[in-house]
Amino acid sequence: MAIRLDGKRLAAEIEVRLEATIAARLAIAGRPPGLAVLRVGDDPASGVYVANKEKACGRVGIASLGSHLPANAQPSEVLAAVEALNQNSACDGILLQLPLPDGLDEAPLLAAIDPEKDADGLHALNLGRLLKGESGPRSCTPAGVMALLARNGVELAGKRAVVVGRSILVGKPMALMLQAADATVTVAHSRTQDLKTLTRQADVLVVAAGRAEMIDAEHVNDGCVVVDVGIHRKPTGGLCGDVRYAEVEPLAAAITPVPGGVGPMTVTMLLVNTVVAWCRRHGCAHDLDDLVV
Ligand code: NAP
Repeated sequence: MAIRLDGKRLAAEIEVRLEATIAARLAIAGRPPGLAVLRVGDDPASGVYVANKEKACGRVGIASLGSHLPANAQPSEVLAAVEALNQNSACDGILLQLPLPDGLDEAPLLAAIDPEKDADGLHALNLGRLLKGESGPRSCTPAGVMALLARNGVELAGKRAVVVGRSILVGKPMALMLQAADATVTVAHSRTQDLKTLTRQADVLVVAAGRAEMIDAEHVNDGCVVVDVGIHRKPTGGLCGDVRYAEVEPLAAAITPVPGGVGPMTVTMLLVNTVVAWCRRHGCAHDLDDLVV
């Protein structure tokens, strides 16, 4: 039976560590870490995601400093909100919740976030740091995948990794992180020919294509470690990923469930980025280095 890469459990373990890290440094810092989730408009899914992030902050002792602007906010108003958070000395992390309402271009707004407060790790400077192997906040979803692999003893050095998807949010930073861990990485995308032949060569397969249950038993070789980043609501109710779990699990050496795999790790890495930024700001050492890939 495949090892279950249990993101829910690991996220809970990391939360305990974050809570202890914050408690031990609170007197030196003089204030708790602060994370601001900036929401614009009323996308219902975003509402759930923001609420989950704020609840997670509350559990570990991070102050939520977010604000919610109306769907008809002007670009200048959103920019002013970002700039106010950049200047706010109680704020260590900023996240602009995507998608934005029609008419708002995310690129200049993401670029306006202070790179040292970039809790999502998506600022061009931080993606450049990842590319160069320099430290900086990392993109939360791929960083969460790396933590999950490390915690379960998945060896990456010298292994063949295949990443399906090349988005800036997941696929590209994922490939860079796996390569930094000495895996030999291939990135597949919608124009890739004969995907099955490629994915069957993988020792580690990370799927972030956003296509419900597109990976079946024919895509996976015996003993592969399978990470499913995808998340979809099924028409019949419940959630599924990009991988047909029931078909692939018997072949895999280890596999992430959906839900309870990558999703909880994404939220936790947002907290990790915020706490690390808070420690750095106050000149405190921290013991989270194993999570900062
Ligand atoms: P995205 O921006 O839509 O990117 C999807 C990528 O997959 C693209 O690079 C696309 O190729 C590639 N692709 C699409 N169809 C393909 C196919 N048939 N074969 C091979 N490659 C294919 O999506 P994303 O933001 O990276 O997210 C991917 C999935 O992860 C979504 O389901 C999303 O909801 C989920 N997600 C989950 C979490 C979490 O915390 N669990 C976090 C982020 C995202 P092209 O570049 O050629 O178009």
